[in-house]
Amino acid sequence: MSGREGRLAPRSTGAPPRRSPEPAGHAPAGDATGAGGNPTGATIELHGVRQAFGELVALDGVDLQVPPHGRLAVVGPSGGGKSTLLGLVAGLLEPSTGSVLVGGEPGWKQRLRRCALMPQKDLLLPWRSALDNACLALENQGLSRAEARRRARPLFQRFGLGEFEGSRPDQLSGGMRQRVAFLRTLLAGKQVLLLDEPFGALDSITRGRMQEWLAQALAAQPSTVMLVTHDVEEALLLAELVVVLSARPGRVVHRLEAGFQRGGPRREVVASQAFVAARQEILEALE
Ligand code: ADP
Ligand code: MG
Repeated sequence: MSGREGRLAPRSTGAPPRRSPEPAGHAPAGDATGAGGNPTGATIELHGVRQAFGELVALDGVDLQVPPHGRLAVVGPSGGGKSTLLGLVAGLLEPSTGSVLVGGEPGWKQRLRRCALMPQKDLLLPWRSALDNACLALENQGLSRAEARRRARPLFQRFGLGEFEGSRPDQLSGGMRQRVAFLRTLLAGKQVLLLDEPFGALDSITRGRMQEWLAQALAAQPSTVMLVTHDVEEALLLAELVVVLSARPGRVVHRLEAGFQRGGPRREVVASQAFVAARQEILEALE
């Protein structure tokens, strides 16, 4: 099935559209936010962070630093506190002990202001079109629907979603929903992008294509990126710094700076000696 076959005309036919495969290689060019005021990144720092929910200790003794244009991936077992870590950085949680700073500021309000979080579930509103779902962040900032659409449209084109503006979430494939959710996160125009297992629910072929797509999208982004994933290859493809969290309570048990080239096609990158060695190192740390 070609990407053309996925063209939608849902309102005119009333029939559910066929789903198209995820096109790889729709690289955005230049400023990928399109939201105006393209943000630069901001440093993320965690110092001696412990996070308890009552008796349950989710994270303990976590020290982390991400420079303004850094890309950090966090891998670790389920329940090890990865989403909690993103919630702390995003300003949705205050640490029980220690401090979390974004752009040098510790307050949760400042963190909220600087960070955009793409949650583990895409949380697209089923009654809104793809375009209007992506517009949500802009409307929340006080823009009119019309102005928000005007800013979001060029990104839909750039991200290979141009034909799907009017589609509702249930008419989109899993990979497309994730792209809409990612666009919404990007359109918020924040300094820090926090991505929580963005492709966790996708099949492995689609996930591979989406990883290529996201790598290209992020290459055009000056924002700081923190990505949570349980997929070691995804971590290495998308981030130059990878940390491994232990099982609960999550502690940083390994750090790796991945120095290999990521530019080429995925299959070549993952076959390179440096990639294989890095993957092995992380898998051993996860044992
Ligand atoms: P991960 O994302 O690595 O799977 P989470 O950060 O979601 O892990 O959760 C870590 C632990 O903290 C889990 O045991 C989870 O049940 C618990 N937890 C997370 N958020 C809360 C909360 N708001 N209240 C109580 N327990 C929580
Ligand atoms: Mg999680």
